[in-house]
Amino acid sequence: MQDAVVAVSTLDGTHKETVQQVDVAVVGAGFAGLYLLYRLRKAGFTTVTLEEADDVGGTWYWNRYPGARCDIQTIDYGFTFDPELEGAWRWSEKYATQPEILRYLGFVADRYDLRRDIRFRTKVTAAIWDQAKQRWLLATDNGASVSCRHYIMATGCLSSPKPPEIDGVKNFKGEVYFTGRWPHEEVKLAGKRVAVIGTGSSGIQSIPLIAEQAAELAVFQRTPNFALPAHNGPVPGDRKALLDNDRTGYREQARWSLAGVPYPQQTVVSWQLSDAERRERFEKAWDAGDLVYILTQLWADQAVDVDGNALLAELFRDKIRAAVKDPETAEALTPYDHPFGAKRPCLDTNYYATFNRPNVTLVNLRQEPIEAITTSGIKTGKRTFDVDVIVFATGFDAMTGAIMAVHPITGRGGKSLSEVWANGPQTYLGLTVAGFPNLFMITGPGSPSVLSNMAVSIEQHVDWVVDRLTAMREAGFATIEATEAAQAGWARHMADCSMLTLHRLANTWYTGANVPGKAQGVMPYTGGVGPYRSICNEVVDRGMLGFMLSGPSVAEQCNDGEIVRLQPDVRLVLNMLAEMKLPPIESFGFQGARDFVAQFNASRPAGRPVGEIVDGSLPGPDGALSYRLYRPATPGPHPIVVYFHGGGWVLGDEQSDDPFCRDMCRRTGMIFVSVGYRHAPEYRFPAAAEDGYAATRWIAEHTAELGGQPGPVLVAGWSAGGNIAAVTCQLARDRGGPKIAGQLLVCPVTDCRFDRPSYNDNAAGYFLTRSLMYWFWDLYCSPADRTDPRVSPLRGKLAGLPPAFVVTCEFDPLRDEGNAYAEALTAAGVPVEQLQARGHFHSSFTMVDMVITSVSGRVQMAEALRRFAGLPPQATGGDEARRGQLASHKLAAAAG
Ligand SMILES: Cc1cc2nc3c(=O)[nH]c(=O)nc-3n(C[C@H](O)[C@H](O)[C@H](O)COP(=O)(O)OP(=O)(O)OC[C@H]3O[C@@H](n4cnc5c(N)ncnc54)[C@H](O)[C@@H]3O)c2cc1C
Repeated sequence: MQDAVVAVSTLDGTHKETVQQVDVAVVGAGFAGLYLLYRLRKAGFTTVTLEEADDVGGTWYWNRYPGARCDIQTIDYGFTFDPELEGAWRWSEKYATQPEILRYLGFVADRYDLRRDIRFRTKVTAAIWDQAKQRWLLATDNGASVSCRHYIMATGCLSSPKPPEIDGVKNFKGEVYFTGRWPHEEVKLAGKRVAVIGTGSSGIQSIPLIAEQAAELAVFQRTPNFALPAHNGPVPGDRKALLDNDRTGYREQARWSLAGVPYPQQTVVSWQLSDAERRERFEKAWDAGDLVYILTQLWADQAVDVDGNALLAELFRDKIRAAVKDPETAEALTPYDHPFGAKRPCLDTNYYATFNRPNVTLVNLRQEPIEAITTSGIKTGKRTFDVDVIVFATGFDAMTGAIMAVHPITGRGGKSLSEVWANGPQTYLGLTVAGFPNLFMITGPGSPSVLSNMAVSIEQHVDWVVDRLTAMREAGFATIEATEAAQAGWARHMADCSMLTLHRLANTWYTGANVPGKAQGVMPYTGGVGPYRSICNEVVDRGMLGFMLSGPSVAEQCNDGEIVRLQPDVRLVLNMLAEMKLPPIESFGFQGARDFVAQFNASRPAGRPVGEIVDGSLPGPDGALSYRLYRPATPGPHPIVVYFHGGGWVLGDEQSDDPFCRDMCRRTGMIFVSVGYRHAPEYRFPAAAEDGYAATRWIAEHTAELGGQPGPVLVAGWSAGGNIAAVTCQLARDRGGPKIAGQLLVCPVTDCRFDRPSYNDNAAGYFLTRSLMYWFWDLYCSPADRTDPRVSPLRGKLAGLPPAFVVTCEFDPLRDEGNAYAEALTAAGVPVEQLQARGHFHSSFTMVDMVITSVSGRVQMAEALRRFAGLPPQATGGDEARRGQLASHKLAAAAG
């Protein structure tokens, strides 16, 4: 050890002990700890790494069970920080075995001479922050304590094996093994009766090999899992060629991808493909034997939409049924309780076929739970299995287990991490915790970690942390701590992200559900590796947003705030639009702007199917108006919603809001008639308003002809269309009909005043800009007419209007006038429901396929329309009703 080992008093000053002094202490010598040591040393920090094992490797040191392999292809699962290292190592297989990966990590340790700063067989047992000294003191179970300025936990997401939950393990007289702590010497299973408990990744990898050796094998399964054949062999030529042709580009693409493996984002959605096309894509993925491929490359909605996912899950189930001969066993092995991918799927070699062997029995614990482990074996509710060996493949206390095992971790003011995390982990970026200065976690909860290629995520975290420590040192800062506001904001962003994917719908180790008593919630960041990286970079670019920094001779710095206030998919859409560097739409002129919108709409995927779509025309006040009618697939007659598209009275048509109309038709189970009202500047005020009213009246008078339900119609509209819908309600009240049962106003224009705060706060950067609104107003309406209630309905009489559902978005210039309209309606005695959508922008609800977090808002809108029409609630619509085949109530709830 190069660093000083000195005698000092402990914190309470009662006795003296030996303490090693370093700048940075790292705990763990797996992938993360090794790279940390390399980078910290290069950056000139004195460092020690403390490792419980007696060698490097982490995961790959401990998990020596038969069949242990990586499940990310080895060309992707390795260090990329040094091209020479990459050139110096050749993987022998597509998915390397545990011994080969362990050899690789040993090779890395030797190449950079890392072992000399690692204290092996040394477990960190507690950590205390000393506010006066501004240092951490780490207690160990072997040798000197460590005093350090910065404490970095590289303790691993999957390094704390979960203890068995079954009584009597100690009574068992045979051999007991844990996959996560497999012995170093050979375990002889030949001719023995073996029980394997658990069918997660470790179980699925080891069961086929154990079955080949054992005389008899009983597999105890609680939850069946999806397993894909690995088709292991040489590194696939196509992937290797991609890497060899452009190593830098390949690695960079991985860093900015969703899962840390360079695959493009899939754009085709499931309903655009025929059954045969979907099967073809699925078979290709099955043959590829690549988890990331099958998890991301089949169709765009497979991981975000219950229906899109169900199509894939069913194809998978067919494979299981085909592979397993006994139908009862096949059924027991088939997962129904979670969407594909929501629980980590596995890669296998002959897993399902293993259950065709005469020496293998599947024990379905859902039907016969284990009652006890006896001296001779395992007793279930129905039978007793006498065995010689029990293998626990019961997984890990994932993500938080190894961190919480250091107990206590005491931060500023005596705060204990276990108290702070009592209801689940709270972090800022998955890297730091408020109240715990100078403590970092590598791939901690709240970062992409286990939902990614961890080699990529580890390098990103290590680089970020070491770069920050270096920058702090240069600026004279000694401490860094996340603020409570930043951490709370990150929790909100995490929750928003978890609505994007289906992980929340499964009880898994991702959510803590595998450990009794553990707080439940999606622990990894589900927003993707690339977006996460850009957020971490943005924190730095915005002056270490959300961090307090202090030092002995510099002024304290704190740029407090929330790093992501937009919904995650809104952020992606806006970033994408910003990257396109489009000129302001108004600069195209009105015809150019219309052409641009048409071109943009043509590039969108087609919306979901509805029962029928009919184009027609109806008489307007000054000639015919076109319309498009969307009819649900369910038996009619249905109530009719008259819909007005957005576009500032200048742009848009029935096509522009087509995905929204389809979606709402499906969700409401109602007919939507989208009206092609006249546009400015050719037809200025009040053409659009009068068209809207006339069309509504005509539709109300022709409900039977249109196949609709007789009785009142409803109106709905977005943006300028919301304006027309609101105006139509006022005109209908004042002109003797038609009767309108309810109004849905989505981000409506309601007034001609431009001085409300949202016009300034959201003037630019959120697609609909203030200057675009000025342009729309100028084209549609002269200043003298603007206070007319037919364009500023907020200025009209509001009493006696139909009930309203008003939607406003936080990052919309029109937010405050929408809210003002809702308030004014309420004050006038109109029943009003409001959705004030946090983190959304003007187009969130109409960008149906791009802004997934807007689904719940549309569900609320649909429910409101159904209530207005006197229909019973219907949380799901259209094909979503088929979701019943997925048993979990969580899945059904996901429709909402
Ligand atoms: C069987 C298996 C297969 C996997 N396959 C893949 C894969 O294909 N792709 C992928 O991306 N990920 C995979 N993973 C996840 C894997 O954990 C990570 O890829 C990676 O190895 C984690 O590295 P790490 O350094 O962060 O943590 P680890 O490798 O877990 O290392 C943490 C180290 O910290 C030590 N430690 C913990 N607490 C203390 C303490 N208090 N004191 C001292 N030492 C301590 C542990 O002993 C351990 O050595 C797999 C995991 C398992 C279990």
